[in-house]
Amino acid sequence: MARERTYLDWNATAPLHQGARDAMFDALSLTGNPSSVHAEGRAARGVVEKARREVATLVGADPSHVTFTASATEAASHVLSPVYRMGKAKIAIGRLYVSAIEHLAIRAGGRFAPDEATELTVTRAGLIDLDAIEVSLAAHDAKAGLPLVALMLVNNETGIIQPIREASAIVKRHGGLLIVDAVQAAGRIPVSIDALGADFLIVSAHKLGGPKGIGALVSRGETLMPEPLVRGGGQEKGHRAGTENIAAIAGFGAAARAMAEDVVGRNDAIAALRDRAEAAMLAAAPDTLIYGRGLPRVGNTSFFHLPGLKAETGQIAFDLEGIALSAGAACSSGKVGASHVLTAMGEDAATGALRLSIGPTTTDQDVERFIAAFTAIAARRKLAGRAA
Ligand code: PLP
Repeated sequence: MARERTYLDWNATAPLHQGARDAMFDALSLTGNPSSVHAEGRAARGVVEKARREVATLVGADPSHVTFTASATEAASHVLSPVYRMGKAKIAIGRLYVSAIEHLAIRAGGRFAPDEATELTVTRAGLIDLDAIEVSLAAHDAKAGLPLVALMLVNNETGIIQPIREASAIVKRHGGLLIVDAVQAAGRIPVSIDALGADFLIVSAHKLGGPKGIGALVSRGETLMPEPLVRGGGQEKGHRAGTENIAAIAGFGAAARAMAEDVVGRNDAIAALRDRAEAAMLAAAPDTLIYGRGLPRVGNTSFFHLPGLKAETGQIAFDLEGIALSAGAACSSGKVGASHVLTAMGEDAATGALRLSIGPTTTDQDVERFIAAFTAIAARRKLAGRAA
C-alpha cells in the first residue's frame, strides 16, 4: 500500500476545492462558445460572468473590471507594459519599479527591458522598504512617462503581509500607477482593491483551491488599461483575446466564492495550526530561525531555517517521511535554487530555508506528523553535527 502523504505546500499550489471540481465538471459539458449569441453560447457566457462576479467579490472589485488570463504570470506580463491606453490615447510608462522580493512573474519585468526596471530594496526583516520607494520615485524622470510600481501584498516564501496602503500613498504622491500581486493574499486575508489603493491586482486560481492555468487581472477602473498582450478575437472586452477556458473559469469562480466566506475566521483556525507547529519546532530545536515571526503574516505560512540543515537536504528528508513541503518557491526546473527573498533580506541564501504552508483542509493529524518528522530530522542533524 502506498504510504500516506501529508501535503504542506499550499503556497506552491492548493488542492482542488470540491466545489471547484464540481463547477468544472458541469462546465465541461457545455457546448457553446461564450461569444455566440444562441442559447448554447449564452449558457457558456452565463458561467463566465458568474465566475467574474465571484472573483470580483473576493477582491472587492467591480465584476466589469476582471479580465481572465491563463495565469497570474500572464496577468503580470500583460500589466507590466510600457504602453497604456486611455481610450485611443497612448500613455507612456517611463520606468518600472519592483521590489527585490517579488515573485519571478513580476521580477521578469513583463514587457520592460531590463534597463527600464529598477529593483527596490527590502528591509532585513523582509518588508518592502518604503523609504526606498520614496527615494526612487523622487528621482523618477517624469519626461519619459509615468512610474509603474509593482509590489506583492503577501510574500510567497515568508508569508509576510506588506505595507501596501502606505506604499500606495507614496506612489500616488508621485503620480504613479500601482500594481499589486495579491496571489498569496486572496482568500487568506481580506483583500479590497480600493482599500489597498491599487490600480491593478493580480490573482491566481490555483493558490486558493481553483484549477491551475487560470488567473485574472483586476483593475480599479476601466479608463486606463495596459496595451493588450494577447490580441485577436476581442474577447474579454479586447483586453485578452482567445476563447475563454470555461471550465477553468468556472472552477476559479467556485473557489473564489468559497474562499470569500469567513476569511478571517477560517484563517485564524489555520494560523492556530501553524502556530502549534512553530511552537513545537522551537521546543524540539530552539535554534530554529522562523522568518517574519512578530510581523504581520498570513496564518498559513512558516518559513524556517534549521542551522546545520541545507534546505535541499531538509526537503528530501521530509519527503522521505511522507511530507511535502518546499524550500522556498516552487521552481519550474524542480531544483532548489538560492532564495532571492533570503538574499534580499541579507540572509544565508546558500543554506536556504524550508517553507511549510497549509490550508483549510489541513488537519491536526497533518500537523502532528509534521512535528514528529521535524523532531526526528532536527535530532539527526544534531547527531551528524556532533559526529563531525
Ligand atoms: N505571484 C506569486 C506571489 C506567486 O506565488 C505565484 C505562484 O507561485 C505567481 C505570482 C504566479 O502564479 P501563476 O502560477 O498563476 O502564474
